[in-house]
Amino acid sequence: MDRDLRRMADTTFDLVVVGGGIIGLAVAREAALRGLATALVEKGDFGGATSGNSLKLIHGGLRYLQHADLPRLRQSVRERRFFLHGAPHLVHPLSFLVPTYGHALKGPEAMAAAFRLYSLLAADRNRGVPPERRILPGRVVDAGECLRLFPGFRREGLNGGAVFQDGQVANLDRLTLLFALAAHGAGAALANHVRCQGFLLRNGSVAGIRARDELTGQELEIGARLVINAAGPWTDGLLRGLPRPARTTGYLLAKAVNVVVGRSLGLSCAVGLECPDERSDSLVGRGGRLFFLTPWRQMTLIGTTYHTWRDDPDRLTIGEEDLTEVLESINRAWPEARLTLDDVVFHHLGMVPITAETGPSGVHLAKDDVFIDHRREGLEGLLSVVGVKYTTARDVARRAVNTAGRRLGVTLAPEEVSLAPLPGGEMESPHRFLATLPPAPGGGVDAESLTRLAALHGTLYPQVLDCGREGEGLLQPLPGAPLVLGAQVAHAVRREMARRLPDVVLRRTELALHGRPPDEALTAAARIMAAELGWDAGRVEAEVGDARRSFAWGGGRCGA
Ligand SMILES: Cc1cc2nc3c(=O)[nH]c(=O)nc-3n(C[C@H](O)[C@H](O)[C@H](O)COP(=O)(O)OP(=O)(O)OC[C@H]3O[C@@H](n4cnc5c(N)ncnc54)[C@H](O)[C@@H]3O)c2cc1C
Repeated sequence: MDRDLRRMADTTFDLVVVGGGIIGLAVAREAALRGLATALVEKGDFGGATSGNSLKLIHGGLRYLQHADLPRLRQSVRERRFFLHGAPHLVHPLSFLVPTYGHALKGPEAMAAAFRLYSLLAADRNRGVPPERRILPGRVVDAGECLRLFPGFRREGLNGGAVFQDGQVANLDRLTLLFALAAHGAGAALANHVRCQGFLLRNGSVAGIRARDELTGQELEIGARLVINAAGPWTDGLLRGLPRPARTTGYLLAKAVNVVVGRSLGLSCAVGLECPDERSDSLVGRGGRLFFLTPWRQMTLIGTTYHTWRDDPDRLTIGEEDLTEVLESINRAWPEARLTLDDVVFHHLGMVPITAETGPSGVHLAKDDVFIDHRREGLEGLLSVVGVKYTTARDVARRAVNTAGRRLGVTLAPEEVSLAPLPGGEMESPHRFLATLPPAPGGGVDAESLTRLAALHGTLYPQVLDCGREGEGLLQPLPGAPLVLGAQVAHAVRREMARRLPDVVLRRTELALHGRPPDEALTAAARIMAAELGWDAGRVEAEVGDARRSFAWGGGRCGA
């Protein structure tokens, strides 16, 4: 994936997308696949903002049954199927357990009925999905089985448990990157670390964007017949920069935090744990806040807390109090967990759109994706798109690109083209794919490393090995980081547009899987990047410093 700013400046595109989170990247992929000349700019790294901080769940929409919201349920079923089929090396089913109490809406009888109905409404949920990625039907278990699966639930009144499956992403940053690779593969021009500074206006219409390369300071103009503002939490801020008032999304923002605990907590499945809240005015649901504890790669993700954020999105910060809020809630509901700050290896911090706040720690999450065609305000050439879930990004993109096609007056390729697998995901069975890998090539790559590489890159893993063969020692693991080969760093620069050390550490490789990597690994990775990008010693040092700071929070520390 080349970062060709000259091409961007020299071309007038059909479409320029602002924002390289999952929504913008899905729009760029959809637009390019369906025949539009497309460009995308991202001010940081692809997926580095909200999208990199999600709880990594691909929802199938079971919860929408509660409100009989069938369109949303069907949308989630389709999009979960897309991920399970299109990136089966990265997305797999995960079982959830939620306790049942009483005999009303969340009692065992209602849950059993809900599962029967969901099975009917989502009968096609596994169409085209590899056998080992299929979603099993939900079921209700008795109280004994429920406590056997998770002994930490409140026992008083417990009369069973609801067990169901959803999708979980093994590596969300790489999944997001696949949308960038797919967009690029279909002809789109993409650039990370390029900030949109404003819109180009010609005769009162938007005709492109003004942009700045954050790596060099170079300014450029990118011409386009249509601009899609997909800047997530920054969407409204960009609109406020227009010389005339434009309609904004109308959403407030909430700061959302997940905690990554560096041990498994003995969970056999994800658990929905209702945590009594000390502040009686901040109850959500029945009697407390619902946290999900999800097992993920021998660790546990716990989320999510929400607090209204009224400040500039660029000033979003996390402090010790955000993490202790989660840990104390879990410890109150499940004292045996005994979580302390020392258990926290990482955190997720992002912003989500909300419609209202309901007390000091309660919010109403926005449910509706937003599509604004600014033509209605007399501003041609600009659409704003905000999606409320990672899961449904492809569908949001489909609708946005359909609108773009109409505005541009072009006939687009059929919608079905975007159901194609993501790069690396073209396989009938991930188990068979991993079981039939060729012998390990040696030179540092043993069978275990090869399997790890193939699990992460899917069918594209030979590209990484080829890259490794082109430099001395690149097939060896990085010092202090046995799970990451030097070749993955070089490959991230050459083929995946990594331009800063944090891009490699946080989003291309699994160097930060267990929190902050050791300094020797950071330095070794920076030196490989230096060889690829011509950095001097000062730049290497600065990049290592920046990568280290990615693991700090609120003046404290986060990571090993
Ligand atoms: C803690 C948390 C947990 C979540 N869990 C889940 C989950 O489990 N499942 C699920 O489906 N959803 C989940 N979500 C929701 C999901 O993550 C978001 O809906 C989704 O990531 C939003 O993507 P986005 O592209 O709109 O935003 P972003 O990822 O924020 O992308 C917007 C991008 O625009 C860029 N940008 C902004 N201004 C400019 C500019 N001027 N020039 C260039 N680029 C610019 C930003 O740098 C950013 O990368 C969660 C969200 C949070 C915060």
